[in-house]
Amino acid sequence: MAWIWMLSAAGAVLLWAISLGRILSSPAPSCLPPSPHFMSPLRGDRRSRNVLLVIAHPDDESMFFAPTILFLKSKGHNVHVLCMSQGNADGLGNTRKEELYHACDTFKIQRKQVQVLDHLKLQILTFDSHGVSGHPNHQDVHHGICKFLHENGQGNIEAWQLASLNLFRKYSGPLDIWLASRITSSSKDPTYTLVNSSPSRSYQAMVAHRSQWVW
Ligand SMILES: [Zn+2]
Repeated sequence: MAWIWMLSAAGAVLLWAISLGRILSSPAPSCLPPSPHFMSPLRGDRRSRNVLLVIAHPDDESMFFAPTILFLKSKGHNVHVLCMSQGNADGLGNTRKEELYHACDTFKIQRKQVQVLDHLKLQILTFDSHGVSGHPNHQDVHHGICKFLHENGQGNIEAWQLASLNLFRKYSGPLDIWLASRITSSSKDPTYTLVNSSPSRSYQAMVAHRSQWVW
């Protein structure tokens, strides 16, 4: 029976390697499928966009949105960060706020474009409805933004959400990226996979959140 497992493992590694090869050989490997409408540049003199990233806690930007931020910066867009709480559950609010500024330095986002709210009644917290890790504050950010978009009602605000993936998809790496890009290019709701162009910078940004290295 051992040979069946070895054959399956070899097949999985081969699929993984083929998927990685396909991603790296695509014309724009940082965003799949290529030629996207995702945050396309404006026309005219001013081509860059102002993009507001709404997160629940300091460290969400590094842990979940690093490939997105790096992609947007590589396209020359102006990224702003609105963090809906200091993440003060363990009394580390001020430390975590400072760590967020350091992480944003790594992403070359100016400090004046980083806003941290700490409103007792505003613990509402742009994730999808599952919030990636299932954290209720991540889910609240999603619902808060949906409510805002619904009430705004003018349809002039573009909003995107970070899709939560199951464990298998999360850890199948290039295989998932490649298969997802084939499936979603034909779907009605546009979905793009942003491939991390600089994993070392994500790591550095996450290092800035030293108080959260608790696992
Ligand atoms: Zn979080």
